[in-house]
Amino acid sequence: MNKLPLLLLLCFSPCAVGDGLPDLGDISQTVLTPLQERQIGQQSMLQIRASRQFLDDAEINDYLNQLGYRLVENSAEPGQSFEFFAINDYNINAFAMPGGFIGVNSGLLLTVQSESELAAVLSHEIAHVTQHHLARIIAGQQSDGLASMAALAIAILAARNNPQAAEAAIVSMQARTMQKRLDFTRTHEQEADRIGLDILQKSNFSIHAMPEFLNRLQRATQLLEGHAPSYLRTHPITGDRVADIENRVYKLPYRLVPDSLNFQLVRTKLIAAQKTAPDAIAYFNDALGAQKHGNPVAQRYGLVGALLRNNEVNRAAQELAVLRIQAKSYPLYRNSPMIETLAGQVKRAEKNDAAALAFYRTAVENFPQHRALIYDYADLLLQNSHAETASQLLTEQLVRHPSDVKLYDLQARAYAMQNKRLEQHHAQAYSYAWQGNLYAAIEQLELAKQAGGSFYQLSTLESDLRELREMLEARGKP
Ligand SMILES: [Zn+2]
Repeated sequence: MNKLPLLLLLCFSPCAVGDGLPDLGDISQTVLTPLQERQIGQQSMLQIRASRQFLDDAEINDYLNQLGYRLVENSAEPGQSFEFFAINDYNINAFAMPGGFIGVNSGLLLTVQSESELAAVLSHEIAHVTQHHLARIIAGQQSDGLASMAALAIAILAARNNPQAAEAAIVSMQARTMQKRLDFTRTHEQEADRIGLDILQKSNFSIHAMPEFLNRLQRATQLLEGHAPSYLRTHPITGDRVADIENRVYKLPYRLVPDSLNFQLVRTKLIAAQKTAPDAIAYFNDALGAQKHGNPVAQRYGLVGALLRNNEVNRAAQELAVLRIQAKSYPLYRNSPMIETLAGQVKRAEKNDAAALAFYRTAVENFPQHRALIYDYADLLLQNSHAETASQLLTEQLVRHPSDVKLYDLQARAYAMQNKRLEQHHAQAYSYAWQGNLYAAIEQLELAKQAGGSFYQLSTLESDLRELREMLEARGKP
């Protein structure tokens, strides 16, 4: 095992922030360092990950990161780390935490009518991050600990999301700062719109998507008689704001940008997740039969997934064969890791493990970055007692994804099968640490120590233990 990469981000040693953040008692400080912002975001992220709201679907999150990074490259801070993730919430919303953590509600993913609209929302959020909007509000707060600042970041977001919760948040915050926040809001939104539009344009998406999306939300609000979608509350829209955006884009030529297949497959997955398996089968059959709505490749992808869920393995395999032929007729769709992942699941359901293993060997070579495929392959390897091959695969993947809890869990299983107790508990410790469960992580490190190992291994454990205990101590502070 390598050194805990976690500690680079959550380092509480004196080199970084010491006991909480220095100088925060001084209200004149309005700027956090990039490291402080990252730490606050990371802390908030541990809480979000531990909550049921985090949408734990590697394919959806990988897609959001691919799209997000394409936009980040054209932002003011192309070198900054970002993390895009989905929230299981049907309210239409998206939000940005300090340090580049951007959440997108499933409701928003289902509401946007094109990938350009989604890109428009993400660009706006990226601009909030690169302009340090939330960070500036937090920096102005009197607060003496990282954890409390992270809690504050979450409280502000929750307050914007939910007016009832806002009252509670206001009570717990200084009225003066709250007022300051409200003054900020309008300027922030205009700035994020302007910079977001620039990012969107440079990234070759349709910039008309931004006013189209806002107008649609506003129309929805009128229908709901004032019950505004969360997005309009977190990013208040005034008539000026939409007019301002329209003025910027109307002179520019309209460009039609086709949606990527992954965009459509992600949406299909979310649509299916709202339905029971039989309902999903009926829905996608209907969509395909009458050719009424949507993209036929995406609809058939939904149908195969629903058939699998309903244990109709033979029909799933038949529809998958049709899906592959259909996908070939679209040049852009020829290589989709999401279709390969689904194909692997069909193969596994057919219970021919030898054929499935051969399939995964090729698929993983073709799509080494697609985590959902890796999880399934590693799991199948373990079921077939190929623990060493699994360990090797997982070690390579952990270099790419050092905070991936599922990879650590699979690695712990692989080590357990090889009777490597120290490594097993060490991997389990990282899994718990990334879930924010520091007590359980420390317990696993103690078990790893008891298992015994080389001098080097044991000293690595000692240093991880020391750092986790420091983190625990820092967290305990108000
Ligand atoms: Zn905004």
